[in-house]
Amino acid sequence: MERLYPSLTVSLPKLRENTRQIVERCRRYGVSVCGVVKGCNALAPVARAMLQGGAASLGSSRLEQFEALRADGVSAPFTLLRVAAPSEAEAVTELCDTSLQSEWDTLLRLEEICARKGRTHSVIIMADLGDLREGFWEQDELVEVCLRVENKLPHVRLLGIGVNLGCVGSVQPTVEKMNDLLALARRVESAVGRKLEVISGGATSSYPLIHNGTMPRGINHLRIGENILLGKDLQIDWHIEDMDYLAMDTFTLTAEVIEVKTKPSYPQGQLCIDAFGRKPHYVDEGIRRRALLALGRADAGEVESLLPRDGGVRIWGASSDHCVLDVTHSAREIRVGDTVDFSLSYGNLLYLTEKNDIRIVYEEE
Ligand SMILES: *Cc1c(COP(=O)(O)O)cnc(C)c1O
Repeated sequence: MERLYPSLTVSLPKLRENTRQIVERCRRYGVSVCGVVKGCNALAPVARAMLQGGAASLGSSRLEQFEALRADGVSAPFTLLRVAAPSEAEAVTELCDTSLQSEWDTLLRLEEICARKGRTHSVIIMADLGDLREGFWEQDELVEVCLRVENKLPHVRLLGIGVNLGCVGSVQPTVEKMNDLLALARRVESAVGRKLEVISGGATSSYPLIHNGTMPRGINHLRIGENILLGKDLQIDWHIEDMDYLAMDTFTLTAEVIEVKTKPSYPQGQLCIDAFGRKPHYVDEGIRRRALLALGRADAGEVESLLPRDGGVRIWGASSDHCVLDVTHSAREIRVGDTVDFSLSYGNLLYLTEKNDIRIVYEEE
């Protein structure tokens, strides 16, 4: 059965333009952009839009996405962003050109596979500068491993080093952190006796340094997903107000109204827990006009993080298959059978595109 709603409308011109805006600003600092497509399950038209907007390569954490892109005829240098699992080493050498690495044993395995197949594979060795996810914590060890890759692994090419910040440990990418990475790169360069091609300064969370003009010279690569796809985290969560050259309405989720009623805003009866074992906090705002949507967590994940396009509409609550809106102050009168539009947060985009029962519509103009 084909469902009309919920549907996801993708504006390809806006995605191209977001990419172009970011790529152009990065270029002024000598920084090339890897367009990261994992947030939208690597939808091929989105990947193409990033390339048309000037992304130099495409990045994802998942090899299956490169396989699908290739099957769709998208050709670009592919960079694997999640440190390769030993069990996928063979696939790594087949499906991507470059990968981020942090374990000597995996590098050795890549060498064996590449030697057997007569291929080469490029690697960016990751440093952990405090965010405490992937990467070498001991800088001496990182320098030593880079040197060994350079001298002992003829089929594994040391492309450079990189860092990831602002993820698991929520550490802010600062000028100091970038300078730490540059100092480490200089140590690697003097050990191997040549310049590194890539010094990769992070993801969307490092982009503010480009935006505000403080990115230190020498950082020459960023891996950017969210800021191209949604442009929301920095503008809304980081409160960066003059980044309005990036569109936040690149993706539109449209859901259908299945009930509209006037009801109290405070649940009636003895309160225990909701469908997900939580105890939400309710505020008694009296009698409200409410609309029920045929949309829930099963479709969009954390429904509360959706951004209603109509500023008067508020998300009141949600379960697996329902979302309750407060439409008391909506700009238009909302009726059963009407649709309501939302912009997305990253988690919503991730859920909606992982599923194959959401109708996706691509807009060219
Ligand atoms: C996901 C990821 C990125 C892109 O992150 P955004 O916040 O979407 O820009 C960059 N680098 C690594 C290692 C990642 O895992």
